[in-house]
Amino acid sequence: MKGTVYKSTGSWYTVKAENGTFYECRIKGKFRIQGIKSTNPVSVGDHVKFDIETKGDDTIGVIKDIEERENYIVRKSVNLSKQTHIIASNVDIAFLLVTLNNPPTFTTFIDRFLVTAEAYHINAILLFNKIDTYSEEEYGEVKYLMHLYKTIGYRCIEISAKTGLNIDEVKEVMTEKTSMFSGHSGVGKSTLVNAIEENLNLKTTKISESHSQGQHTTTFAEMFDLSFDARIIDTPGIKGFGVVDIDKEELANYFPEFFELKSGCKFNNCLHINEPKCAVKDALEDGKVAWSRYKSYLQILEGEEEHYRKDIYEK
Ligand code: GDP
Ligand code: ZN
Repeated sequence: MKGTVYKSTGSWYTVKAENGTFYECRIKGKFRIQGIKSTNPVSVGDHVKFDIETKGDDTIGVIKDIEERENYIVRKSVNLSKQTHIIASNVDIAFLLVTLNNPPTFTTFIDRFLVTAEAYHINAILLFNKIDTYSEEEYGEVKYLMHLYKTIGYRCIEISAKTGLNIDEVKEVMTEKTSMFSGHSGVGKSTLVNAIEENLNLKTTKISESHSQGQHTTTFAEMFDLSFDARIIDTPGIKGFGVVDIDKEELANYFPEFFELKSGCKFNNCLHINEPKCAVKDALEDGKVAWSRYKSYLQILEGEEEHYRKDIYEK
């Protein structure tokens, strides 16, 4: 039989078969490892093949194979073993909820999220929430940010989880897809999920970030069917994405507007820092690339080396 993994506890996997029935499955025997070594060979979102085995009164499924993943999200454990855990796979849309204040969402956070989504090959959509609360000036700022990210190619939707503004549009883009919601605590994730579907209590919104940060917490994601043809993957305690290791040379590929320009750089291994005849730096000077984006690029490139970062981008 064929099905999709909806839940995993580490040793048991809940698989929804194509006919809609849920089966509790185990893994048996040797497994074809998919792409990376991870602590869990099968994750939520995996499309699997399984057999039904009956022992007395018990019926259990045995997962035999996984279909190739379209994408997957990982979390590396913070302890010394640095083991990789696949949180979810085959995610169609990663939504990021953004608010200007209460809490503030800084562009560096947005950009890190977008870079990670690009690296994971997941379609990212920005939801500017709490539109009902903004002053005219703040709304202008939202408009500016939406324009900035739309120009780069990201879909942006202004919403209010409270008043219901554009929730229909969010539901429309979710239809026939598997989605994830991220954003700082307090941006309105649980309010939004409630506006999308009543009576769905997700962990995403429950576990406080301070608790999950920096601790060795095993993260078990879970997938839920919504009443319209859509699925949500719930990932406890994840405000952004897991971390991905990106090579310095590769980073600009995940800034789509930089990627478009880089054939114009003199050096084909240009890092767009201080090389001569750099098309990205030229576009920055011409106002065609946003300073906030470039700052984020340098920040990610240089990690947390504060002084160096200041040196290179502060005007
Ligand atoms: P979460 O931590 O991301 O799940 O955020 P919550 O959904 O708990 O929302 C945090 C607070 O913001 C709650 O008091 C919500 O009522 C409020 N909130 C969420 N969305 C909106 C919105 O669109 N407009 C307004 N005015 N308040 C909102
Ligand atoms: Zn360059």
